[in-house]
Amino acid sequence: MTTENVPKDTVHQVVIVGSGPAGYTAAIYAARAQLSPILYEGSVTAGGALMNTTEVENFPGFTDGVMGPDLMDSMRQQSARFGTTLVTDDIVQMDLSGTIKTLKDGAGNTLRAKSVVLAMGSAYREIGLENEKRLSGRGVSWCATCDGFFFRDQVIAVVGGGDSAVEEATFLTRFATKVVMIHRRDTLRASKIMVDRALSNPKIEILWNHEVVDVLGAEKMEALSLRNTLNGEIKRHQFTGLFVAIGHSPRSELVVGQVDLDSEGYVLVNDRTTQTNIDGVFACGDLVDHRYRQAITAAGSGCQAALDAEKFLVGH
Ligand code: NAP
Repeated sequence: MTTENVPKDTVHQVVIVGSGPAGYTAAIYAARAQLSPILYEGSVTAGGALMNTTEVENFPGFTDGVMGPDLMDSMRQQSARFGTTLVTDDIVQMDLSGTIKTLKDGAGNTLRAKSVVLAMGSAYREIGLENEKRLSGRGVSWCATCDGFFFRDQVIAVVGGGDSAVEEATFLTRFATKVVMIHRRDTLRASKIMVDRALSNPKIEILWNHEVVDVLGAEKMEALSLRNTLNGEIKRHQFTGLFVAIGHSPRSELVVGQVDLDSEGYVLVNDRTTQTNIDGVFACGDLVDHRYRQAITAAGSGCQAALDAEKFLVGH
């Protein structure tokens, strides 16, 4: 639905911002609870990070796996079936103070709501290369648990030197013949236990003092162009896969200064609930979670957010 059709004279029960598994699941529960949720899906691509994956093999209930975009489309349709108003636009501004929250969308409409569910997700950090984007899903990935299986018996590269990179590299040794970690410095940032694990794994090699300057290949990735950070030398290295593990950034820019965030920008919630520091504002999915980052855990926390919002609305 476009923004013209969003009822504006109403004080909505709940507005959900974000359309990954967390947002859609929150919408399914809120709609079934007769809260007539409005869900802002985003103006460019609805569905969140799963829209960039291929086959999802670990979402329970799909014996033979499911394509990420198909899974998101099913969740989307399921939320609509129970009466969610889906809006293909962004929320660009929010005032979460007070009992009635106001949200402004990209088309300039202002919505009022008694409760808000924040489900904006997080973004994998990218190296920032043009060919990294072009070959995404064709050799370049940001998620070993999602895509590692497709790199069986191959030699693959992981870029990064933090815990995520070590974790991804270690996971990938299940499938790959060899995993080469490419790190721009000569020491890993990862915790000691993770470093020890990487160094003692016979399938992991570390290429110190190197950075990726290009991803090569026409239809799919065939090699990397790497620069030695000590002497500036650039060489082609044969790899059929690249996993980028250089950190994540929660998409919390919209609520900075209003909702309490941790030092990395993730939204802080109360204990095991989805309650933020503001009454009537709930947060779920990757926006709060830097540990698990799975579709199923995001969906679970979206369910919690809707139940928390429902309880809040009954009490008010
Ligand atoms: P991180 O600790 O911020 O590490 C990011 C790594 O990527 C660093 O080594 C950094 O290099 C490198 N990097 C950043 N930008 C780069 C670029 N443009 N090109 C090349 N390399 C780049 O991120 P993370 O590993 O995702 O970890 C985030 C947090 O989650 C940490 O607190 C971590 O401890 C935690 N975590 C814990 C676990 C676990 O305990 N199992 C697993 C995953 C994450 P430099 O070192 O040179 O800066």
